[in-house]
Amino acid sequence: MAEKIIMLSDARSRIPAVPALLALPDGRLADALARPLQDLRISVTDRCNFRCVYCMPKEVFDKDYAYLPHAALLSFEEITRMARIFIAHGVEKIRLTGGEPLLRKNLEELVSMLRALPTASGRPLDLTLTTNGSLLARKAQVLKDAGLDRVTVSLDAMDDATFRSMNDVDFSVADVLEGIDAAHAAGLGPIKVNMVVKRGVNDDQILPMARHFRNTPYVLRFIEYMDVGASNGWNMMEVVSSGEVVERIGAEMALEPIDPNYVGETAARWRYADGSGEIGVISSVTQAFCADCSRARLSTEGKLYTCLFASRGHDLRALMRDGRSDAELSNAIAGVWHKRADRYSETRTINTDGLVPGVRKVEMSYIGG
Ligand code: SAM
Ligand code: SF4
Ligand code: SF4
Repeated sequence: MAEKIIMLSDARSRIPAVPALLALPDGRLADALARPLQDLRISVTDRCNFRCVYCMPKEVFDKDYAYLPHAALLSFEEITRMARIFIAHGVEKIRLTGGEPLLRKNLEELVSMLRALPTASGRPLDLTLTTNGSLLARKAQVLKDAGLDRVTVSLDAMDDATFRSMNDVDFSVADVLEGIDAAHAAGLGPIKVNMVVKRGVNDDQILPMARHFRNTPYVLRFIEYMDVGASNGWNMMEVVSSGEVVERIGAEMALEPIDPNYVGETAARWRYADGSGEIGVISSVTQAFCADCSRARLSTEGKLYTCLFASRGHDLRALMRDGRSDAELSNAIAGVWHKRADRYSETRTINTDGLVPGVRKVEMSYIGG
């Protein structure tokens, strides 16, 4: 097997410069390609209770794997402080992720702290979370009560054996479905269900998943398997394109395209012609959506990533713990975003990992999906 080199944390990150002369945040920060900063994904833990084969394969994330020590994690106060500053620059949507975000103790406290933040436009902050669903039945109501708007739940198969082998910790489909229903009952909707499709692993589950979630309140979204990080051994042959997914479903259940909900929506939407619901397809590999990408990512230990495929983060925690003021942090973020020109998916080539000697992309479980 190929040698695996995994970054525990991003040693090549740098402390961002703090430009002195940038204007005060006015909610309209734009990057070098004129893309606004609207969407912030915050990873609250690098740990997970699943070992999905495409994300945290067991042979890499084993018992000797060194996760971040607690002191390295941003505290809830630090996360909220950063979020307030990002919001002043135009962020209107915050997604909590990980690792498995529900593993972070007392996460509901963070949710209620973020809930209290006003946005620059005066519109309510859209506060969501992506989870593997394993702890959702237990946590849905308390998260709703704390002010969470919605959840997205990952589920890769209806077939129990397939799902158990994909999460690689023997977790059942029924338990995830129970979590989804609990979230729905708690009012954490509309709920999206994300399925990563890997050819030869779960592509035979496309139709069973579509059949199951048709005529339910849940929107199923198919995600092209991506070359994130360095540990999943990605190969283009294992990607099932969104085009193929739509074709396979459409052959059994007629589909028609519908307009996006908003500019920059990652999923292309389709509805069943008989009115029995909609699906989404996220074509991160075959149809890049970098042109409208307004997402920033804050890693578990406070590094700002301007692209999911970035190999280097900007260490905001270092500035915070160095006693810098909010204005200085704000200027540092603006300085990074002004220079942002990332458009990895538009420029990716087949089997990218390792193409550039010495450059390894950061793991998704570390910066969050
Ligand atoms: N643990 C949570 C979960 O699984 O929902 C949140 C974090 S996970 C990294 C976020 C999303 O990224 C999940 O929907 C997961 O399926 C997706 N993901 C992880 N690795 C991926 C890959 N290589 N390609 C495409 N999607 C991936
Ligand atoms: Fe964990 Fe989510 Fe990655 Fe699966 S996709 S290993 S649940 S972080
Ligand atoms: Fe955004 Fe980077 Fe993904 Fe392009 S590759 S859509 S810039 S995160």
